[in-house]
Amino acid sequence: MNEATRVPLDESRIPHDWYNIVADLPVPPPPPLHPGTLRPVGPDDLAPLFPSDLIEQEVCADRHVTIPASVRDVYRLWRPTPLIRARRLERALGTPARIYYKYEGGSPSGSHKPNTAVPQAYYNARSGVRRLTTETGAGQWGSALAFACAQYDIECEVWMVRASHDQKPHRASLMRVYGATVHASPSPMTETGRKILAEHPGSPGSLGIAISEAVEVAASAPDTRYALGSVLNHVLLHQTVIGEEALEQLASIGEVPDVIVGCTGGGSNFGGLTFPFMRERLAGRMNPVIRAVEPEACPSFTQGAYAYDFGDTAGLTPLLKMHTLGHGFIPDPIHAGGLRYHGMSPLLSHIYELGMFEAVAKSQTECFEAGLRFARTEGIVPAPEPTHALAEVVAEALRCKESGESKVLLTALCGHGHFDLNAYERYLSGRMEDHALPRDRIEAALAGLPVL
Ligand SMILES: *Cc1c(COP(=O)(O)O)cnc(C)c1O
Repeated sequence: MNEATRVPLDESRIPHDWYNIVADLPVPPPPPLHPGTLRPVGPDDLAPLFPSDLIEQEVCADRHVTIPASVRDVYRLWRPTPLIRARRLERALGTPARIYYKYEGGSPSGSHKPNTAVPQAYYNARSGVRRLTTETGAGQWGSALAFACAQYDIECEVWMVRASHDQKPHRASLMRVYGATVHASPSPMTETGRKILAEHPGSPGSLGIAISEAVEVAASAPDTRYALGSVLNHVLLHQTVIGEEALEQLASIGEVPDVIVGCTGGGSNFGGLTFPFMRERLAGRMNPVIRAVEPEACPSFTQGAYAYDFGDTAGLTPLLKMHTLGHGFIPDPIHAGGLRYHGMSPLLSHIYELGMFEAVAKSQTECFEAGLRFARTEGIVPAPEPTHALAEVVAEALRCKESGESKVLLTALCGHGHFDLNAYERYLSGRMEDHALPRDRIEAALAGLPVL
């Protein structure tokens, strides 16, 4: 048995290609639809929002997409990321399971988000775009894009969900340090924002509203495009560097995963970690159980409908077939801001329908308990989002203890929680509440789904 704790990978082993799982699926995913014509959207419909390289990647059927040399060069700042065996957590749990985590919190902005922010900024800069707009919830995406735009010398303008903007002022400061402009959303700068403020002056905002604002500004300015930090196919594609590296790292120490667990907001870190392993499973080379973990307060896989819905609140985006709680749904203010999106990646939703992975929902107190346990054993303070995955890893490790099975568990620790210490304080002082979602609120939100 190997004795590794940190599994090293040489800089030359940063992947040269992103992996596109669409090429290996038995059934292709349903296309996005134009809300007016209800026909599949074409490149022309998307051109006001995205540069042509990213539109091509969105509909790409090739198995591999080459990572541009310039992007690999920026990746070198923090990739390959470490794969670490959580020996101290294993010991504390008394489990025979072997737990590995791929740590993405060592990136410049502290999460996996720069894996896609950098190529998005690169392709936009290359096509002559001068400014990118985006939304951010917890602030991890906004800070990743701000960092990436600084690398390619383009402007970055961020609409940040007001609840987070007020609770996490330091995330907004980080974006400004990287040179971005930050607005609390809803803002008076857009038609969507003005309309919502007129109806609800104290609106805490939501990701869906912030997306509408960023899309509205990008669509109306010729030198400006929009960037999305999750959900879309090209985002999940870029994140596959996580899984490709993890696959190589585990192979280098002779380990094969039995269970792979990840948290899902829009699905990008989960897809990025698991797609290369799904490829290996489809090819018959391994047979891991793959499991997504979402918050009880925003349970799109476990309680949502699989239906065509808008990606934003105002209904400006194409219709996406996905697991959704309805585009009007505003989740309760749980601390895992990155998991508070009403929808889910259409690609992952399709793969879920194909039965290729499982999903479970967790309460935030169970998640923070696992986060503290992890911090006190492994030393890294996890962001609230990956504590969802950790809670399931702990549960699985305890099941192994019961059964005596020494399974190999793998997860992505997709961000650190240094900007989330308020949330940890709430937990430590016993003031954290759970927000399970009553079925009537789900039904009410789903009643607003567009009728096709
Ligand atoms: C954004 C974010 C998430 C949620 O987004 P996914 O696309 O589901 O990965 C989860 N964890 C962290 C640390 C994030 O920054």
